[in-house]
Amino acid sequence: MRLVDSHCHLNADRFDGDVDLVVGGARLAGVERILVPGWNVASSERALAVVDRFPWMDAAVGVHPHDAANVDEAGWATISGWADDPRVVAIGETGLDFDRVFSPIPDQLANLRRNLRLALDTGKPAILHCRSSDGARDAQDALVGELRAAGVGGPSWTAAFGDRPPAIIHSYSGPADYARIVVDLGLAMSFSGLVFRRGEEVAATAAAIAAADRLLVETDSPFLSPPGAPRRRNSPEWVAITARWLAERRGETEASLGEVLVASYDRTLPSHRRPA
Ligand SMILES: [Zn+2]
Repeated sequence: MRLVDSHCHLNADRFDGDVDLVVGGARLAGVERILVPGWNVASSERALAVVDRFPWMDAAVGVHPHDAANVDEAGWATISGWADDPRVVAIGETGLDFDRVFSPIPDQLANLRRNLRLALDTGKPAILHCRSSDGARDAQDALVGELRAAGVGGPSWTAAFGDRPPAIIHSYSGPADYARIVVDLGLAMSFSGLVFRRGEEVAATAAAIAAADRLLVETDSPFLSPPGAPRRRNSPEWVAITARWLAERRGETEASLGEVLVASYDRTLPSHRRPA
């Protein structure tokens, strides 16, 4: 089965000792594309270093909601400066986290807005993390409000992205009507090992209605191990488990879903460095 990992933190220090082995395992499992997102200045710089080491991979630079309060103007200027780099194919990860609230919500909103602005200015999709606490949907509702307020789906975004997705909902989580809104906004949806957790059953509905040309799969390594992967550290080879789940939800063979995933990745995250 052809595989992609659209969200994999090989820039995390937990991969320092054995990244070559981890990447070798991913290749053996069929992984052909990996996107390495940053979450602050240092991790964005490390994402660039990872793709220098593995030129077939792609990087994203941006500020995670957890770090929203910790990145100052100088840090943001550094990240913005990297956004035009050909190694960078997306802006993020950014978004909203109303579950853990490691940064105050006003800081998260301001951070999301400037990351979205950078996505619009560069024509590179925003990678959106969005989590509410168990049973709640306040972060999803706020995210949709922010996307609409930023004009996503309107003329300026259409001019910048054409018919490509302007954003990726990373590690999909949220109610069914939110999934429908995400589809209607033309966003890409990326599914992770989170779909196997209790309380995330609605992800099956989202997986079934996602458009084939904006469907992605990811590990969020080193986090969110799916059942069957080591609990202590997830790694990109285990994306196969979630991809098989996606194939079942969509009534497709693994082989045909694999073709869909690679095509969707290349369309959503075009790169001049990656041979077509
Ligand atoms: Zn992440």
